[in-house]
Amino acid sequence: MRAIYPGNFDPVTYGHIDLIKRAIKIFDEVIIAVSSGSRKQTLFTPAERKAMIKEAVKNLKNVKVEIFDGLVVSYAKKKKIRVILRGLRMLSDFEYEFQMALTNRKLNSSIETIFMMPSESYSYLSSRLIKEAASLGADLKGLVPPFVADRLRKKLKEV
Ligand code: ADP
Repeated sequence: MRAIYPGNFDPVTYGHIDLIKRAIKIFDEVIIAVSSGSRKQTLFTPAERKAMIKEAVKNLKNVKVEIFDGLVVSYAKKKKIRVILRGLRMLSDFEYEFQMALTNRKLNSSIETIFMMPSESYSYLSSRLIKEAASLGADLKGLVPPFVADRLRKKLKEV
């Protein structure tokens, strides 16, 4: 069975990577779907976010990275995938994820959302906090891959 793991990944963190590694032990293939049409303002372009994930998962088998636009359920249907994978970090994720999973089920009842939890050492990590910490000059060692930390530093100088 294949699963689609959608998100902004702005940028990818060790939390996302932890989840992907867990997922490929269960699913035959995991497609990481980078959202391009988000209402949220992203720091990196979809192509930049995709390139960083590709680099981060280059040694993992059965993982693909794609950019998608529009509804996750429509994209999953087009690709004949019936599982949407999402990460649950804290209770604070729950309400939003619960609403989204039920909305997606309403939109397409043959697609199920499955949640996985990262290692507790990454359960506090978020792309938003990484960007904030990076903008304040924090050392991101152990939070994002070193090349992501470099790209963040460069990007923050540009904006
Ligand atoms: P979105 O903006 O759609 O939430 P993200 O890129 O932040 O997109 O996250 C994509 C998915 O990865 C979400 O399900 C989110 O809960 C999950 N995720 C984000 N950070 C982590 C983490 N540190 N550990 C596990 N899952 C995570």
